[in-house]
Amino acid sequence: MNITIVGTGYVGLGTAIMLAYLGYQVTGLDSDEGKISSLKAGALPIYEPGLDDLLQAASPNLRWTTQYSDAIPDADFIFVCVGTPPLPDGHPNLQYLEGAVRSIAQHLDGKPQIIVNKSTVPIGTGDWVLRILEEHAALYATSHYEVVSNPEFLREGTALGDSLYPDRIVLGGSSWATGQMRTLYAPLIEQSFEAPAHVPRPRGYERPAVVETTLTSAEMIKYSANAFLALKISYANEIAGLCECVGADIHEVAAGIGLDHRIGTRFLAAGAGWGGSCFGKDTSALITTGQDYGYSMPILRAAMTVNERQRSLVIEKLQKHVRLLKGKRVAVLGMAFKPDTDDLRDAPAHDFILRLGRLGATAVAYDPVAMPRARREWTHLHYVEAVSASAALAGADAVIVATEWSEFRSLNWEEVLATMRGRVVIDARNIIREPLAAPAVLEQIGREQPQSAFLPAS
Ligand code: NAD
Repeated sequence: MNITIVGTGYVGLGTAIMLAYLGYQVTGLDSDEGKISSLKAGALPIYEPGLDDLLQAASPNLRWTTQYSDAIPDADFIFVCVGTPPLPDGHPNLQYLEGAVRSIAQHLDGKPQIIVNKSTVPIGTGDWVLRILEEHAALYATSHYEVVSNPEFLREGTALGDSLYPDRIVLGGSSWATGQMRTLYAPLIEQSFEAPAHVPRPRGYERPAVVETTLTSAEMIKYSANAFLALKISYANEIAGLCECVGADIHEVAAGIGLDHRIGTRFLAAGAGWGGSCFGKDTSALITTGQDYGYSMPILRAAMTVNERQRSLVIEKLQKHVRLLKGKRVAVLGMAFKPDTDDLRDAPAHDFILRLGRLGATAVAYDPVAMPRARREWTHLHYVEAVSASAALAGADAVIVATEWSEFRSLNWEEVLATMRGRVVIDARNIIREPLAAPAVLEQIGREQPQSAFLPAS
């Protein structure tokens, strides 16, 4: 079976390489010539742990192109993985999807072809895509195609494991088309492939559940799942705020409630809140879909409000200890929205750097992998790049831990503090386990900490 993947970003690349690893002939297509030439040269345009190795293993089955004429006619399955970023009003921007579908429509071959929508799209988009294809088919009357919604649940940073050992595969469409998808995914469903050495099958993992449903329900499953995870984090953050008021510890509280199997321990980490390209966008999209129907979604709105408040809270905690930020040097550890990715979309660190600049402070930022991307994408921000965490911290008046990279977890904070000018640590990811010796000040989220006035080291 021939597969074409349209859009080779975080989702498309992972999908292309995974399907090629399973043995299919895969063509990756992107309108970004830079990405395609880099892939043709064997270099990944994104950072994703382990993807390099899988690319090597799968490369005989992969090819890359920018041309729809070269990628669509022979494809049995055409996966659409283009971005659907948010518009200012909260609706997703569907211009990339529309562009891709119109280009696909021009090159459909007339043989049965399945257009698989992996992009996260508003409810009803599958039908809209069908209409675009029909407009075209009316002109060229030979095409036989179906649209399937197959939402993606991978997480950046663990994309390979999530793709090879998914919890579930959701397939929305006609029974013929979802049946074809089942056949395509048989190696995953039966777990009959040889697990790559660097992405071993998790202990106890058997096989994914397959959910066969309508286009609309499949689209709804994706949005509702992301919005639920987002509100779980916001719930933990709201409880963390109350923990601070009453002197409880959110670590203990989250562990205590998460042990109930109905709740579960995951996505209860208090901190600077969610970021990334999906949670905020998908929660807003669900709210705006409700609006389109005159239906209010107060729980989701509250989740968004709490998330925004978390980012302000971090700066407020800094201001509490470093009262005048003007002229101060503040280290920002971590720029990516979460560890193990270089993705900067909606990263809390962006807001921290922006607000530090407005308050007259100099942000000195360091990230283990995201700095080259920040150089390209954060040109509107003023910050000083540091070559390492210790370089960012040397001479700093304060530090914000913005991303929980493992490298920051293993810092020797007593040594680090000795190189700083001030000793204020705002640990917005609650990664520091031991109290810091006075005169250092450690602020975390939802945990009671010794508090003292800002004291310069010298
Ligand atoms: P991305 O921005 O990393 O990649 C999108 C790619 O599509 C880019 O390389 C872009 O050049 C390409 N593109 C845009 N228009 C095109 C066109 N007309 N023809 C060919 N290529 C085109 O986006 P992403 O993070 O991979 O997300 C893709 C979709 O998957 C989104 O809808 C997103 O919500 C969803 N999703 C993302 C994640 C994630 O963790 N990133 C997880 C699940 C679902």
